[in-house]
Amino acid sequence: MDPAPSPSNMTKQRRKAMAPKVRLKHHPNLWPPFTQLAIADSPQRVVAGDGALLLRESGEPLIDAISSWWVTLHGHAHPVLAEAIAEQARSLEQVIFADFSHTPAERLAERLSTKTGLERLFFSDNGSTAVEVALKIACQWWHNNNEPRHQIIAFDGAYHGDTFGAMAVGERNLFSAPFDDKLFPVARVPWPATWWGDNDVESKEQDALRVLESCLECPTAAVILEPLLQGAGGMTMVRPEFLKQVEQRVRQSKALFIADEVLTGFGRCGDWFASHRAGITPDLMALSKGLTGGCLPMGVTMASEKIFAGFLGAEPNLTFWHGHSFTANPLGCAAANASFDLLEAEPEHFLCFEDRHRPYLEDLASHPRVQRPRLLGSVAAFDVAVEGATGYLNPIGPIIKRIAMEQGVFLRPLGQVVYLLPPLCISDLQLRHCYSTIRHALDQL
Ligand SMILES: *Cc1c(COP(=O)(O)O)cnc(C)c1O
Repeated sequence: MDPAPSPSNMTKQRRKAMAPKVRLKHHPNLWPPFTQLAIADSPQRVVAGDGALLLRESGEPLIDAISSWWVTLHGHAHPVLAEAIAEQARSLEQVIFADFSHTPAERLAERLSTKTGLERLFFSDNGSTAVEVALKIACQWWHNNNEPRHQIIAFDGAYHGDTFGAMAVGERNLFSAPFDDKLFPVARVPWPATWWGDNDVESKEQDALRVLESCLECPTAAVILEPLLQGAGGMTMVRPEFLKQVEQRVRQSKALFIADEVLTGFGRCGDWFASHRAGITPDLMALSKGLTGGCLPMGVTMASEKIFAGFLGAEPNLTFWHGHSFTANPLGCAAANASFDLLEAEPEHFLCFEDRHRPYLEDLASHPRVQRPRLLGSVAAFDVAVEGATGYLNPIGPIIKRIAMEQGVFLRPLGQVVYLLPPLCISDLQLRHCYSTIRHALDQL
């Protein structure tokens, strides 16, 4: 007798129908991010890191030209960071952060509030949650003020993370499509990206400002943007002048101003923070990636005292009822403080990085395949001239990645956008090798 089609049987049948008959080249128990395992090559096993290098099981070193998804700030296996984490682990590895506090968290909060000009620090675990916290604080601040405002404004091409709130404010695309019906509505403003030799920047900025003005006619809780540099959206850059104009209009509307500096913070953009470099002062700032020097997962949301004051009072509903198990993890705080020490000790490493990129990028800019060269701090980028649709899935990216890998350089183009975002410690020789590898790849296309 046939067994009745139980739910588990049906799942099995469906899985059979859906799963292509391919041998997956990854570990049978792992599900890696942003990867289609049906077509992905085997990952390379990395056994160690050393400065700008990743050391593979195969024995060949590889230059990590994108700082392992933009986090590694001072280089891999940095002895100062390793020691700070080890020392902290020997005394206090974790403690609940309600009812208790500790010196590494207090020290980090003091230093970050001095550096950002935003007095209050709220901990979370990564960039997405740092953004979620900023959005929730902004919404509740209006709620607590008995003037609920509902509209959030974000920019075209934005990326703020992969949790639901962060996805909602990010650009809607292929990645968000399965969830679009669950994402709250957001008003959008064009992002007037610019590059070397761009003659239209002013008119693009004026268009964007006009859209912003009309969006702001509706009472707005917050405006969120990635100052100076949109990362995942394609390493696109805007001018400080534009951000100052945005800030002025946001202030007039009394909306709160959120800077997502998850990528741009901690020297990436040639200053401590992109907001500083642009001359703007947000009310809330999300930080992660380079916060711990890229060693440990941690996020923080900085808030001004004005915002914080809106949550003070005896009534329970004023409280910000949000928190994470690993809030203010002492190991993360120790790494962040040590990374801070390194940045303070040698600020020229990030202040002058642009000058290291510039001659190479200028040289590359004349290559017939290179369009829209642009540079900010340690981030250099350009578009490869391609036929057909541009975007994350443009096939040119994987081709360039493969050629670069053969030359010992790890690149991970965003579609047709090729960029270098190396750790600050990369040597001149290694940087030169990255550029000659890119030229080699472009010549092969
Ligand atoms: C990476 C990134 C995030 C998300 O950070 P995760 O740690 O990956 O969650 C948010 N905003 C920006 C600007 C980012 O670059």
